[in-house]
Amino acid sequence: MPRKCTVCGHPKRREIDRLLIQGGTIRDIAKQFRVNSNAGHRRKTGITRILDKPQSQKKTPGDTQGRN
Ligand SMILES: [Zn+2]
Repeated sequence: MPRKCTVCGHPKRREIDRLLIQGGTIRDIAKQFRVNSNAGHRRKTGITRILDKPQSQKKTPGDTQGRN
C-alpha cells in the first residue's frame, strides 16, 4: 500500500500548496503545519512547473527599457 504524503492528506493542503507556489520552502511549511517535510510533494503536484512559468515569462524592467 503506497503511503500518501502527509501534505496531500493534510486538511490545509490547499494552503500549503499556495505557500509553496508563492515560493515557500517545504521545510518551513512542513514545520508550520506540522507535517513531514516531503520534497517529493512539490514535484508530484507540479508546483515546480507552476513556479517556472512566471519566472520565464517575467521580464525585468531594465530589459524592457533597454529594448525601447
Ligand atoms: Zn503530497
